[in-house]
Amino acid sequence: MVRVLRSPMDAVCCALFPASCCLCSNPLLRLTLSPVCETCWNQLPAQGGTLCRVCGEDLGIATYSTGSPRPEEDCVCRVCRMAPPPFRRAVAHGVYEGTMRGLVHALKYEGTTPIAGGLGQRLALAIAMLAGEAPAEMLVVPVPLHRAKQHSRGYNQVELMTRAALKSLRHSHPEWRLALASGALTRCRATESQFGLTIRERRQNLSGAFSVPDAGRVRGRDVLLVDDIYTSGATARACSKALMKAGARSVWVATLARAQREGVAFWDPNFGKTAGAPASMGSR
Ligand SMILES: [Zn+2]
Ligand SMILES: [Zn+2]
Repeated sequence: MVRVLRSPMDAVCCALFPASCCLCSNPLLRLTLSPVCETCWNQLPAQGGTLCRVCGEDLGIATYSTGSPRPEEDCVCRVCRMAPPPFRRAVAHGVYEGTMRGLVHALKYEGTTPIAGGLGQRLALAIAMLAGEAPAEMLVVPVPLHRAKQHSRGYNQVELMTRAALKSLRHSHPEWRLALASGALTRCRATESQFGLTIRERRQNLSGAFSVPDAGRVRGRDVLLVDDIYTSGATARACSKALMKAGARSVWVATLARAQREGVAFWDPNFGKTAGAPASMGSR
């Protein structure tokens, strides 16, 4: 048992308004707007292992193996070697599983918007991985929802997290000049759910789904594209393609979480002629 010190105010409020964590149902010990306990918040570790230096795919190379370090060019996954993405690099904080999956769902589908702040802080850790590599001045573009979806949900969960992440980065990386540009990219077509589609079908499904309404806004700029989950990379590729077509100088991608092998359709060398394992992601 962890002993938690509570302020008298917390103790009184939690006794008067007992609330429990929306993920594990344990009672909340502090007065907070965010219905998630500290134990759950502490279960969002950063990814380990050897990751593809372009897209962040887990290459499944045991980190404890001995011998000389692998040459850099080896650390690129099969997908990135066969079809290099239009973005420079994609980074993610944690793996999309367990508590991370629960929190993303709560924010996206259950309207639990107060957790966007805590998730945004983890997203900031992912963005910080680009320090020294990506330009210090970037236009920050959250992956947009289709207008109808945004209207029915009432918010874009990615934009909420991005705002929180930028706030946190202003303290941790004051030298960066990151400007939020939410409307720079739009989703001009409502797309089918990506669930159960092969990588090829996902790319086709998203082809032409994004556009840049005012190319002047992104022309010559370095762009940081932000999303909640990186699954097959189809969304990141489609958005980056639209941004590059509009004249962006480079696109970098940061997501809160990344689905790794078990949760993603396996890359099919025949470019999706046979169905892969269904992906775990629902509609946006
Ligand atoms: Zn909990
Ligand atoms: Zn890769």
